[in-house]
Parts: sequence; structure tokens; C-alpha cells
Amino acid sequence: MKIRRTKISELLKSGQIGTEVHAKGWVRTKRGNKHVSFIALNDGSTIKNIQVVADPNNISEDVLKLVTTGASLSVTGQLVESQGAGQSVEIHAQSITVMGVADPEKYPLQPKKHSFEFLREIAHLRPRTNTFGAILRMRHAMSFAVHKFFNDKGFNYMHTPIITGSDAEGAGEMFRVTTLDAKNPPLTEDGKVDFAEDFFGKETNLTVSGQLEGELGALALGEIYTFGPTFRAENSNTTRHLAEFWMIEPEMAFYDLEDNMDLAEEFLQYLCRYALEHCEDDLAFLESRLLEEEKNKPANEKSEMTLTEKLRFVVENDFERVTYTEAIDILRNSKPNKKKKFQYPVEGWGTDLQSEHERYLVEKHFKKPVILTNYPKDIKAFYMRMDEDGKTVSAMDILFPGIGEIVGGSQREERLDVLMSRMDEMSIPHEEMDWYLDTRRFGTVPHSGFGLGFERLMIFVTGMGNIRDVIPFPRTPGNAEF
Ligand code: ATP
Ligand code: MN
Repeated sequence: MKIRRTKISELLKSGQIGTEVHAKGWVRTKRGNKHVSFIALNDGSTIKNIQVVADPNNISEDVLKLVTTGASLSVTGQLVESQGAGQSVEIHAQSITVMGVADPEKYPLQPKKHSFEFLREIAHLRPRTNTFGAILRMRHAMSFAVHKFFNDKGFNYMHTPIITGSDAEGAGEMFRVTTLDAKNPPLTEDGKVDFAEDFFGKETNLTVSGQLEGELGALALGEIYTFGPTFRAENSNTTRHLAEFWMIEPEMAFYDLEDNMDLAEEFLQYLCRYALEHCEDDLAFLESRLLEEEKNKPANEKSEMTLTEKLRFVVENDFERVTYTEAIDILRNSKPNKKKKFQYPVEGWGTDLQSEHERYLVEKHFKKPVILTNYPKDIKAFYMRMDEDGKTVSAMDILFPGIGEIVGGSQREERLDVLMSRMDEMSIPHEEMDWYLDTRRFGTVPHSGFGLGFERLMIFVTGMGNIRDVIPFPRTPGNAEF
């Protein structure tokens, strides 16, 4: 009788002790001697391996020779309680079929520590490592949590376009989409590329945000969210920027700035709690990885909290809400500013905050997540709602330890005249945004929204140091491999 394959995550729950089982997976390690081999088998269903015990009476020498790290196996045998430490059950193999060999001379993933830099070069194989397996399972869990959070609240998942004809938001940092011949494009009379001849009959780009279209949805359905790929051609080679990343953008009719902040805070706490409750094994692995890494750090760089403590801290503590103006005062009078330790000194009111300033506020001053509000209008987008003072807008950025900005949002400007004069100030032609302005012409209402960078969230919940390591195939300047 054919025995059905059981996933290793199921086998480890040990309900089937004493029965004949069938497992499939990839070899992580093999050790042993001439009398017995111990094979650690992993099928991706959990970070844990199952131990397969093979003795030469059942399994031939020729087969065992092919059982090397990375090879794929189909194993049948008896599930028994394990004598060894570290696992509850193991399989005593009756038969092993090697489905695919992995020549140890050539297979790049050997059972030893590989640097993340090296693993990025073999991103097609790195999902088979413990660390990336854990990260990918957690990416799935967190994506699911995003949908569950909004679905439970009655939000509608809205699909906004990926190819966009509006460039109001991302001028200069967008990727052009074209089918024109790059070597020999059609030209207009004055010698410019003639995009009227292009596929869409106009200039088009990859989206930098689904927000503007999201607003159209919110002003019909009440509450919507988007969750999709986002593209930015900013040439910033940092550990927090990707050229292609995933963004979650809820947009809500009838929400003011405070409602917006309440939702964003609840959302982030929900996601951290979800990780703690649903990703226990993967988190435990990532936490021990970090503790190992910390051992080699100088005392002043050691982190005060473990990964799960950090997540719990976010879940259990209210975020600090501070205005931009208050933050500037704090930064101006801060030790690193007075001692000229900031790369960008904080001088006057009105300048944008750099990541070093954001991190000072979160990590040194408040020691908790911070929501900064009411930024100067000149450093924020045209659609943010003008405050009474005429100088600031109802923006809110959420700053997280180790990351800086994780969420950017605002109450949107719902007053047609104010919005149009803001667009004039910023030289955004009304004609191009006519469809957007229509929402303010017809049945306008106060509304708000924000954007959460999914990979920034993943940096936080996995404790990874580089955004390139929390997405399967990172796109960054000079890199679009795989
Ligand atoms: P930053 O100042 O950190 O570059 P931003 O102000 O340009 O971010 P927003 O336009 O407010 O970002 O986008 C909303 C969110 O999207 C940010 O809070 C962040 O979480 C995420 N995000 C923005 N740019 C990137 C990027 N290049 N890679 C990954 N995530 C990003
Ligand atoms: Mn922002």
C-alpha cells in the first residue's frame, strides 16, 4: 500500500508514533559512522528538521553515498520516539530514494556559516537556509495578518494600478514604462521623445504609491486598503531602501489625523502580536541567531532587548505622539547635536529629519516608537491637509527603533480651493490631476490614510539588519539578478 507523504511539521507533532510514515525533503546534514547514519531532513514546512536514522542493513551503501547536503530524499520508515537530545521523534528508515543529488563539490550551501553578502549572490538558493526559510515563512504570516486585520475591520482590499499615467507624486524617482525603441524613438517637431506614439499614447511609469487611486476607493467604499508592489528609482543605497518593495496603504473616509494615528498604532501592535503568537519557532531561531551575533559586538552596541522583547515592548506600550516642532526643540538641545555628532546638524525649524535624527528620538530620547505630527508644509506632499497655522500640515510619520520611518501618512486635504492653491505653489498642473480633484468637487469629506512599507516591517519583526535580506529577490541600484 502506498503511504501518503506527511509534512515534517505534522510528523513532529508526534501523533503518529509507531506507524509507518513517508517524508520528503532536502538533506541539511548527515553524520554518523559505518554502522548508522543520522540525516537531518527539512521540507520547509517548519524550521525544524526531522532526524532520519539509516542503517546499512536497510539502506544500501550506494544510496547513502548520494545522501549529501542539499540532496532531495523520499523516505519511508517507522516514526519512533527519539533517544537523542533535541528532537521528540525520528524516522527509522526502511527505504530511501534519492530524488535529486547535490554534488558536494559544487553545491554552494554547505553546513557552515555563510555571510549574508555571499547568500545575496545565491539568492536563488538562500531560501534553503534556516534564516531565509524563517524569513519567508514570516513574510507569508505577516501578509496574511495584514489581510486579516483589515478584513476583520470591514475594509475592502483594493487593487490600484501598477502602471500609472500620473507622476504628481514621484517626479524624478519613477521607472518609465515604454515599448518605444530606445535606440531610435519617434520624435516630436521640437526634438523631444514623442510619447503620443508610445503604447499607452502618453508617458507612463511604475507606481510609487497607490494612495491617490486608493482615495477614490475610500470616497466610495468608506474604508479600503491596498497591498501591492511599489517602485522607486531613488538612488539611495541604504539598508532601508529597495527599488521594488511592497506597501500597505489604508485610506479611510471620515477619519481625522487622530483616528489615523489610532488605526496605525493598533495595526502595528496587531502585527507584532501576530508574529509572537503565530511564528514562535521561526522567531526563536532568529532570536538565537541575533544573540549569537551580539556576542561579537562591543558593549556599547549590544542591544538592550532580545527580538521577542522588542516585539512585546511595541505591543504593550503606547507610542509617543509628538509634533515636529517639539521634536526639533528636543533635537536642537540634544547632546549629539551640541557635540556636533550628527552628520546633519539640526539648526532651524523647517528642515527635513534625517534617519539619524529619527533614530535618536526613538532609541535615545523616548525609548519607544514615536509618532511625529504636523510637519512643515514645504517638506511634505501637496495632498496633506493644511493646519490652521498655515505653516504645517496634518502629517504623521511613525518612527521605529533600528529603522526610523516605518509609516508615513496624513489627513488629506479635502477642501478644493486649498488643495488647488497648494498644487499651484508646487507647480502641479490641475489638468493632470482632474480626476483626483473631482473627489473634492463632488461630495468631498474629511479623510486620511497612511503607507506602511512591508519590508520595513519585516526588518523589525525578523531583527535583520538589511532590507535586502527580508525580500526574496531584492532590487537595488545595479542589482536585478534572478
Ligand atoms: P524615507 O524617508 O524612509 O525614504 P519616504 O518618506 O520616502 O521614506 P513614503 O513616501 O512616506 O516614504 O512611503 C511610505 C512608506 O513606504 C515609508 O514609511 C516606508 O515604510 C516605505 N518606503 C518608502 N520608500 C521605501 C523604499 N525605497 N524601500 C522600502 N520601503 C520604502
Ligand atoms: Mn514618508
